[in-house]
Amino acid sequence: MKKGKILLIGFGPGHHDHITHRAKEAILESDIIIGYNTYVDLIRELISDQSIVRTGMTEEVSRAIEAVRLAEEGQTVGVISSGDAGVYGMAGLVYEVLVEKGWTEQTGVSVEVVPGISAIQSCASLLGAPIMHDAATISLSDHLTPWETIAKRVEAAASADFVIALYNPRSGRRTKQIEETQKILLQYRSPDTPVGLVKSAYRDREQVIITRLADMLNHEIGMLTTVIIGNSTTFVYDSKIITPRGYQRKYTLNRLDQPLKPHERLQEKAEPWALHSHPDFRDENTSSQGLTENGAVAVLEESASDSLIETNSDSIKASSTIAQEKETDLPLYNLALEALACLDPNADKEQDSTGSLKKKKQSTNLIPRQGIIEIFEVQVSPGVAKKSFSSEQMLTLAQLTSNEGEMMYSPEHTIFLRLPQVQPEEVVESLKSVGFLVLPVDSCVQVKACDFCDMEKDESIPIAEELGRRLNGLAVPKELKIGLNGCGMACYGAVLEDIGLVYRRGAFDVFLGGKRIGRNAHPGQQVVEGVPAEQVIELVEQLVTTYKNKGHLDERFHKFFKRVGSVLQFRHAEYTGPLEIDSICGD
Ligand code: SAH
Repeated sequence: MKKGKILLIGFGPGHHDHITHRAKEAILESDIIIGYNTYVDLIRELISDQSIVRTGMTEEVSRAIEAVRLAEEGQTVGVISSGDAGVYGMAGLVYEVLVEKGWTEQTGVSVEVVPGISAIQSCASLLGAPIMHDAATISLSDHLTPWETIAKRVEAAASADFVIALYNPRSGRRTKQIEETQKILLQYRSPDTPVGLVKSAYRDREQVIITRLADMLNHEIGMLTTVIIGNSTTFVYDSKIITPRGYQRKYTLNRLDQPLKPHERLQEKAEPWALHSHPDFRDENTSSQGLTENGAVAVLEESASDSLIETNSDSIKASSTIAQEKETDLPLYNLALEALACLDPNADKEQDSTGSLKKKKQSTNLIPRQGIIEIFEVQVSPGVAKKSFSSEQMLTLAQLTSNEGEMMYSPEHTIFLRLPQVQPEEVVESLKSVGFLVLPVDSCVQVKACDFCDMEKDESIPIAEELGRRLNGLAVPKELKIGLNGCGMACYGAVLEDIGLVYRRGAFDVFLGGKRIGRNAHPGQQVVEGVPAEQVIELVEQLVTTYKNKGHLDERFHKFFKRVGSVLQFRHAEYTGPLEIDSICGD
């Protein structure tokens, strides 16, 4: 007698274009097709002369028993499931029936599971790219699973920030489960969390709705719907739900020239969020690589303080995000939370009534606000040396920020713009058309000069402008300020910048490694005097190139100079600080 075979066939969401080649073959190969009525109808055109065993929806067990019986008679039996047969489909049940009978692969009927596109994938494709990161599928059907277990899984997935796909979300009789699920989710996620409701993906009555967690119950949800709930980083853009994979932690996505060079991307210091940087994980091995036992904490402390303090004045983008919970700069926000957790391992825990530590529920006001489509940040100034704004320029700024945009002045004599939902190219174009110098806000070179006493002492202006043309906006490991002052008064503080140039008696004095802010603020080291104008541009370019190529990610120029000991022909000298003078007031 011919050995029987069971083919457990997932036929995908419904449309024939999305059935795999092997699934079609398997259908043709079958002597008998067994399936739930609606599914048999969906693949009707693919069935030739096979006999068909149709059953009602809740008759899976009888379908499985029948499939095994027919296969044991020597028939090839195709058991069909929508999506994937192994995802809330027939595959597991058929195996369970076989196991009960003591089946083994060697002695029993053959079994083949033919994979198909599951609803999580087909529905995600219609929504954009909502899965993209770790996701959990949860069936809300409590016919076979205790509700308590389902609720626990929802809570676990919600607290661990999984994207969640809810299968079997609601039926005629089961209506409360989705409401309870929403309540649990709202304890962990923002009400603005994007939610996609896809009904009958790739079938006749397909329907796609994009909504938010707080509103999802205002829409139709039924047995043919899959509900996809974003994680804390998911956003909606142009009617698409997108969950970032995390590239923005290392890449500047709108730029070809990336601040991190390929070989730097996998270095430990570029990944302070990774396991290798966790204090519990660090071992002697890592300390011997030049890091102290607390190396990881030190790295994080540095990042956190860079973000919260140094960046505070260097980049308004960073400080306002944290301080005012602007809640859009997630990498920075997450990094800050991670840093806090590392400094105090119990920071995210609270004591329960028994005195033991439990993870704190994230308070909802800390959850980043969602639904913001995109914010374009850029900084502008009237010019490298020019400090006055024209009315046309002011009008342009006012117009650009009229639609919920923000405009802030910076300590660097630039204006920061935060503009939601704009086309960056158009914005840059309009800013340039009124004569603005336009610069990115991330780590780049920024040349600024004094106003040359309102352009009266103007001999070195062409040098300043040429430096600006060549270097402004160039991506470097960390922002690099080049200051140029037109006389020895250096009233715009060039000597405090990373690279300072002071024009004096027809030539330039060069200062390297100044630190303008922080408690250890100090001027740069004067490395050379009297560099002729025709040589200074090339010299500065060489300094910048060396730093660009050899600086570590996020390493300010003064730290780089100290670490490498010499740049070009200039040797680093420790800053000794001003002379301490005893207080004459006694105590
Ligand atoms: N094996 C199937 C899942 C069966 S459970 C799979 O892998 O996709 C049934 C649930 O799947 C439905 O309640 C619905 O939530 C989801 N589902 C299946 N097909 C779907 C489709 N075409 N569109 C939307 N959701 C679907």
